[in-house]
Amino acid sequence: MVISRYLYSETQRAKEKEQVQTCRLSLNDSLERDVRTFLVDEAELHTYDDLTKVNPLTPTIVLKCLQARYGARVFYTRAGCTLVALNPFQPVLDLYSLDVMHKYHAAAQPQDLKPHIFIVAEEAYRNVRGQVEPVNQSLVVSGESGAGKTWTSRCLMKYYATVASQDTVERIERRVLDSNPIMEAFGNARTVRNGNSSRFGKYIQLQLNSSQLLVGASVQTYLLEKTRVAFQAANERNFHIFYQMMKGATEKQRQEWGMQEDQTFAWLPNAEKTLEEDFFQETVEAMASLGIDVDKRAQIFRLLAGILQLGNVRFRPPACESKRCELGEQSEGSSLRKAAALLRVSPDELEERLSVQRLHAGRQGALLKPCSAGECAVRRDCLAKVIYAHLFEWLVTFINGSMCADDASWCTFIGLLDVYGFERFPLNSLEQLCINYANEKLQQHFVTLYLRAQQEEYVSEGMHWSIVRYRDNQDCLDLIEGSPSSIFSLLNEECRLNRASDAERLSKRLQTELSRSSSVSWDKFSTQPHFTVAHYAGDVTYHVHGMMEKNKDPVPPELLNLLQQSEVPLLQSLFAGSGTEGHGPRGPSKVTVVSKFKNSLESLMRILHSTTPHYTRCIKPNADCTPLSFKGEEVMSQLEACGLVETIHISAAGFSIRYRSEVLNHVSVLFFISSRHSPDRLALVVQDILSAVLMTSPAGLSSSSSNNNNNNNTTTTMVHCGKTKLFLTNPMLELLEAHRNRVRSAKAFCVQCCWRRYQRRQRAVRTQRATRIQAAVRAWLARREVRKWHRAASVIQTRWRSWRTWMDTLAKEELDGAEEKCEEEFRPMPPLSHAPREGHPAQPPSVGAPVAVCAWPLGLALACTPHLTLTFTATGFQRLASATAALKIPSRQGEYKVETNQFERGVASIRAQPRGSVKLHARRSPLHYAHTYPGHHHDGVAGFNQILLEQT
Ligand code: ADP
Repeated sequence: MVISRYLYSETQRAKEKEQVQTCRLSLNDSLERDVRTFLVDEAELHTYDDLTKVNPLTPTIVLKCLQARYGARVFYTRAGCTLVALNPFQPVLDLYSLDVMHKYHAAAQPQDLKPHIFIVAEEAYRNVRGQVEPVNQSLVVSGESGAGKTWTSRCLMKYYATVASQDTVERIERRVLDSNPIMEAFGNARTVRNGNSSRFGKYIQLQLNSSQLLVGASVQTYLLEKTRVAFQAANERNFHIFYQMMKGATEKQRQEWGMQEDQTFAWLPNAEKTLEEDFFQETVEAMASLGIDVDKRAQIFRLLAGILQLGNVRFRPPACESKRCELGEQSEGSSLRKAAALLRVSPDELEERLSVQRLHAGRQGALLKPCSAGECAVRRDCLAKVIYAHLFEWLVTFINGSMCADDASWCTFIGLLDVYGFERFPLNSLEQLCINYANEKLQQHFVTLYLRAQQEEYVSEGMHWSIVRYRDNQDCLDLIEGSPSSIFSLLNEECRLNRASDAERLSKRLQTELSRSSSVSWDKFSTQPHFTVAHYAGDVTYHVHGMMEKNKDPVPPELLNLLQQSEVPLLQSLFAGSGTEGHGPRGPSKVTVVSKFKNSLESLMRILHSTTPHYTRCIKPNADCTPLSFKGEEVMSQLEACGLVETIHISAAGFSIRYRSEVLNHVSVLFFISSRHSPDRLALVVQDILSAVLMTSPAGLSSSSSNNNNNNNTTTTMVHCGKTKLFLTNPMLELLEAHRNRVRSAKAFCVQCCWRRYQRRQRAVRTQRATRIQAAVRAWLARREVRKWHRAASVIQTRWRSWRTWMDTLAKEELDGAEEKCEEEFRPMPPLSHAPREGHPAQPPSVGAPVAVCAWPLGLALACTPHLTLTFTATGFQRLASATAALKIPSRQGEYKVETNQFERGVASIRAQPRGSVKLHARRSPLHYAHTYPGHHHDGVAGFNQILLEQT
């Protein structure tokens, strides 16, 4: 029994062993296969434009893919709904040129082009054009400090300034772009993580009119890190503008600002290294272009120089405790005097207000309490910070005033969010807490809007969906801002109590009241009051010392009063309306820095929720900002922090497009589906329609799905009909859109044909009518003309006949008895020969009708014509010669006598009969005083105008 049991257990063990072995083998096999596939594909990894297509989708492969692309100098990759932007840390040729912008703008389907930040920009722009709700768009650019957010935002602004520009005289795009160098000069600084780190958050609203042209812009800023004015951590710098002034000032400006070239300023550390941002002239030009005039600029720089001088003011404890601190400078307060001169306040007043505190003591008025050296330094820093912060606010207001369009002139906007990235320094204070809180908020916006909402929607719509686990940062947000107990609420409570700040007490309260949260922890061995928050992007330890003071942000009223008395008009105006912030006469102010920041962030979130978001994740490939160096571990921690792999999982498995059932019902009308259908029935009908689309689709998936069964399978994987929504994948939507375009273009073609036919017919009818009218008018005009000619002809005929009759009568009267006389004077002419001349055709003499000959020669005509009328066109001697030739008179000298006056009067015509007499009609009678025109007889004498010649 025992043996059998032993045998049984042995065989059992052997079997189990075998099973484990087989299992291990199969696991190894599959792993090997995976590895092999992976290795085979490794060479191709850089070709994956979209990370959702990577298979298997693991963080390592995503990282490898990004690394391969970075190595191939491809810096943008799609990751579902997000664009991943890797920072090249060096300018890349032709990556952001105008040509590239135009290429993406003009593309029919920008998504088909290589991933680029311009695709995100164009998508948002087309959404505005397409008026798809919500029409307003937000471009959320996030990432660590130095990951490239500011650069990306700049690119986006340039893109819109180029594609949405209008040719106005005052180009608003220029102003929008010019606002950048100013904001960066005053709001950016070098940190250990980034040479040009934004020390404030900004949301730029690009305002578009109904034609989607850029007509204005406005900037909303969030929490400037003003402590940087008076305190810079090791290896960090103050705001760029101070270094720009130091390096770019002219000699005259230096004198004006009391700033020698070799002078050192306590608040300008690390000035020896010049950054590309240290370009004073560019800032000045941008200020001028935005309308900040010379005088205003001079005042601004004067205040900045005053702040720098304030930084050099030192206090040392007094010899006697009841006395106030003395100035600790070797040059006996020259910095304070310079600062006072630049701020145009009294130096004594300045010194007094920095070193003496005014306490309100009820009815007794104010008590003067000398401050310790430390307190004096705090007051000095406070003065510098408050001036700088107000100046920054004034600049933002001015910039807004010069770029913002009237409310009536714009209707939509594209918002561009560029907030400070997640930060973790060796010493983190209230600023880092606020900055990281803002990043948590943005992460939550992404998580709730995309990761959580999408999955919840799939489940509620009845889809078979296996939940993708992601890191939800709600717990961390509750820790920071929740109620009733959170870091912010406890901090505010402590600050509002009318007692001195105590970091230890705050730290203890935090520990006792928040210990239940899993997102906070404490280092038991640390002696400093602190707390560590587990942020989505990593753990950060915050130091409680100084946090309460920063949160209260008190400005002693006596300092405000001093600034109000300044003779610099700008400084005066900056504080004109200022009451007493922080600790006033009535105790501490309720408005703390974190409560203000929380409110402004909540209003930003409301804007983001009301717009269509587009996410861009900037990744910093290495912490040293070295060009083209990819540190896997650092990138991996960023990928994990922003939940990129989970995003890709959901995008790859999910449906990116969804339509509400109302839209579906609307669509169904087009497809003749009755809205009576139940959702199930509707789903079937939709399925049928989509299958039909796939069948008719000439390209894409339809070609692969050869039969109906296949089509159905494809449709189910690409489409899901939920309870109230229709979910589509991107390829399905593309197919549908391609189909719609085909149907539309066929219908458009049909409409065009009909329209053209109609137009042709209309044109033909109009042409016919016009022709008829023209013919009628022309006929009428012709008839009128002919009638006129007839009338004119009959008048001419009548006149001519009467003139001929009259002439004949006159000729007869004159010729009576004159023929004999003629015979005596002129010898008979020789008979005309009938022989035709050489080269001239002869005409029979039998022709009876008179022939008019208007040209030379006349001899042949005379010879051939029995009765001839000749008209002369020649004059003078030519006429004489032609007459002689016509009469065939031999031209022998002296044999014929020709009376000159006859020829002067001109021969009008010649009538001749062969071998008979020739009648020459002169225009005027050869007789003196005779007149040939019938109507002009003044003296009643008629002339002799016919000459008879006999031919011999
Ligand atoms: P962030 O705003 O996230 O802190 P920045 O936008 O200032 O970071 O980028 C840090 C630096 O990286 C920039 O000064 C620039 O030199 C470089 N950089 C960022 N993006 C690009 C890019 N697309 N091409 C070239 N250099 C870049």
